[in-house]
Amino acid sequence: MRLAVYTNQIYSCLRCGFCFDHAVGGQEKICPSYVTYGMESYGARGKMAIARALVDGVLEYDADVAMRVYACTECGACEEQCFKYLSLLDIYRAMKADLAERELVPAELAGVGRAVADAGNPYGQARGKRLGWAPGTDRVGKKAETVFFVGCTPAYVRRGIARGAYQVLEAAGVDFALLDDEVCCGHPHLAVGDLEGAREAAGKNVAAIEASGATQVVFACPGCLQMFREEVPDLLGRPLPFRVLHATELLGERRAAGSVRLRKQSRVVVYHDPCNLGRGLGIYDAPRRAIDAVPGARRVEMRRSGAGSFCCGNGDFVRFGYEPMAVENEQARWNEAVATGADLLLSACPACQIAFLDAKRRAKSTVDVLDVVEWLATAI
Ligand code: SF4
Ligand code: SF4
Repeated sequence: MRLAVYTNQIYSCLRCGFCFDHAVGGQEKICPSYVTYGMESYGARGKMAIARALVDGVLEYDADVAMRVYACTECGACEEQCFKYLSLLDIYRAMKADLAERELVPAELAGVGRAVADAGNPYGQARGKRLGWAPGTDRVGKKAETVFFVGCTPAYVRRGIARGAYQVLEAAGVDFALLDDEVCCGHPHLAVGDLEGAREAAGKNVAAIEASGATQVVFACPGCLQMFREEVPDLLGRPLPFRVLHATELLGERRAAGSVRLRKQSRVVVYHDPCNLGRGLGIYDAPRRAIDAVPGARRVEMRRSGAGSFCCGNGDFVRFGYEPMAVENEQARWNEAVATGADLLLSACPACQIAFLDAKRRAKSTVDVLDVVEWLATAI
C-alpha cells in the first residue's frame, strides 16, 4: 500500500478542522468537496481519518472510499490551512494510486484515464489535430532557445489560450518553437492515480525538449507547469535539464528588458488565482503585474484571493465524474467575481475558463471571461 509511506503524517493529524472551516471560525467552508457533499468524509479531516483506518487495517479500499478520494479538485486549500503542515495532496495522490491499482477508479474518471492512454489526451481527440490551433507550421520542430509547451486543454478545447500565448510570445520577441511530438503532460494520469502513465508521458516530453536544444520551456497551462516543476523531477528521478516558467513570468522579464508595448484597455479587471498556479506554485504576482502593465486597466480583487483564494470547482477533471460539485463551486466563485463590479474576469488556467464560461452562460452575463494571455494578446 503506497499510503503506508505517509503513516507518520497520517498519525500527526490533530483533527483540528482548520482544513475545512475552522480557519475562518467555522463561518466559511474552504473545501469545494465539503461545500457540495456536506459530509466530514469529503473534507480533508475526514479523508485523514479514512487514511488512518486504512493504514491501521480496520478499513479496506472500496467504492465508497474511492467516491470520496476522487471528489477532490486538489485545490490545496486544505494543505494551505493545515495546522500541522501535512502533505495532504501527496497523501491523496497515494490513495488514488492505491485505488487505481485495485481498479476502483470511478467509471467517469476511469474514462479520462483510458482516453489519455489511448489518444495521448484526456479528450480522446485525434493526435493529428493537436496543432490545429497554430497560426502556421514555421515554429513546429524548429531549433530555438524556448519551447512553448501547449498542453492538451489549450490544444484541443480552449484554443484561444494557445493562440493568445503564441501571439504574446511572438510580440515579445521570444525565439520559440512548438514540439511536433508533444504529448499530455501527465497531470490527468496523476489525477486518476496512474503513476506509470505519468512517468511515461513525462519521459517522452522531456526527451523531446532535450532533443530540441531549448534551455527553457514556457507554459500557459498551470497544470502542465506544476507537473513539470514539481512532479516530473520526482517521477524521472533527476532534475529538469531546462528552466520552466509561466508565460506571465516570461512576459515580466521581457517587459523589464523593454521589449513589450501594450495598448490602452479601459476595463475593470478581476483576476482569479488558479489553484495550480497560486497555492500550487506560489505564482500570485506575475499575472497581476502583467494585468497592471496594461494602460487603462483597473484591477480589483475578490473577497478571497491569493493564498486564500477559493477554487473554481473544476480542478483535477472532477467535472467528468462530479458535475454537481463543479457547477456549485464555479457558481459560488462566479458570484464572488461579479460582486467586485468588474467587467472582465481573467484567469490563467483553461479549466478555470471552462468553469467560468459555464457560469456566465447560466447567468446570461455580459461580464467577459478570458485567460490573461488571451487578453494581453488583444493589447499588443
Ligand atoms: S484539495 Fe481542495 S477539494 Fe481536495 S480536500 Fe483539499 S480543500 Fe478539499
Ligand atoms: S488541518 Fe491538518 S491537522 Fe488539522 S484536521 Fe486538517 S489535516 Fe488534520
